[in-house]
Amino acid sequence: MFFHVFLTTECNLECRYCFAEALEDTAENFLGFDVDYALPRKISYAIGLLERFCGQDPECVLIFYGGEPLLCTEEIKQIMDTVKAKHFIVQTNGVFLNCLEPAYVNRLSAILVSLDGDEVLTDYYRGKGVYRKVVDNLKLIKQNGFEGEIIARMTVMESTDIYKQVLWLLNNSEFPFTSVHWQLNAGFWSNDFQRRNFKEWSVESYNPGIRRLAKFWVNTMEKKGIVTRLYPFLGVAQSLLIGEEKSPLRCGAGWINYAIQTDGHIIPCPSMWGMRDYYLGHIRNANPLKLKKVTVGEPCTNCKILGICGGRCLYANITKRWKPEAYKLVCQTVENMINAITAETPRIMKLIKAGKIKMEEFQFMKYNGCEVIP
Ligand code: SF4
Ligand code: SF4
Repeated sequence: MFFHVFLTTECNLECRYCFAEALEDTAENFLGFDVDYALPRKISYAIGLLERFCGQDPECVLIFYGGEPLLCTEEIKQIMDTVKAKHFIVQTNGVFLNCLEPAYVNRLSAILVSLDGDEVLTDYYRGKGVYRKVVDNLKLIKQNGFEGEIIARMTVMESTDIYKQVLWLLNNSEFPFTSVHWQLNAGFWSNDFQRRNFKEWSVESYNPGIRRLAKFWVNTMEKKGIVTRLYPFLGVAQSLLIGEEKSPLRCGAGWINYAIQTDGHIIPCPSMWGMRDYYLGHIRNANPLKLKKVTVGEPCTNCKILGICGGRCLYANITKRWKPEAYKLVCQTVENMINAITAETPRIMKLIKAGKIKMEEFQFMKYNGCEVIP
């Protein structure tokens, strides 16, 4: 099982798609849900409880999460020293990566670091100087011996040219990434669709960009014999190649990947913090292997591509913060990406047959925090 561990609700940045959106979003438009807005700012339970909880699952993977988890380096060290987890992962904005001693950084299996592309775009979304600080920190941890996976985790919205920015992350000379994941800022807030330009952007920029990127991805396999770790493509292509007919929710939320709040309550996904109706127990007495499962409902249950999509996002499906017409546009991006990968699958199969690439190269640690469907 995978668990996002909320170390704090606080963050040092004020990103456009998170802080700014939260300011515009009010409790009134989250009607119908009983939300605890007064969660403790930091972990309020004894670490021993987490040790007891994880100890029941020999395959337990902990993903440090926040707010910004690296504001809590002492708690990270305490947890890593106490809890027997199979892997530790962190999802961070990267600004304080230099504040955790190498002895701990080097024990992490993966670091998901939020970067949206090049310096101009990252600083536009995340704040001036963020890009430089993060890249300097990434270079530092490599120098200090980190050998795990570093995944650039992009948040994508209207100022993003997906093709250009993914290529930049992969090919820039200063810190070329080998793993990239991206997630659309879509369906997470109630009243942003009306003031945004999502429709035009998704149809005119994002969807064609994804088709171009899929071709580039397979061209790279052809020319260099490398399966670049673009998580959204990797997950879908793997299913198509092995003939998986019915994928469960690919982020794992509500069935294999849960989140632990700062007060110790367990929820199906990190975005569902405070939603009391979805509290599935407390780490004090729950069994990680016997947690209740939560699954997507309409419209996914009636969707013709549910088997390959998996449902995209449990949080968006439950809260329905975008109206059906708006959310349809998100589903069109999913369908577009699946079609783009499907169209490239015969070429991929040929390359596998010819020995140019290997089937194993499509394997990856699932549910590590990369949702697969953006
Ligand atoms: S495409 Fe949309 S409706 Fe269909 S399964 Fe995915 S998220 Fe659900
Ligand atoms: S995709 Fe949705 S349900 Fe899954 S982890 Fe992200 S916010 Fe939660």
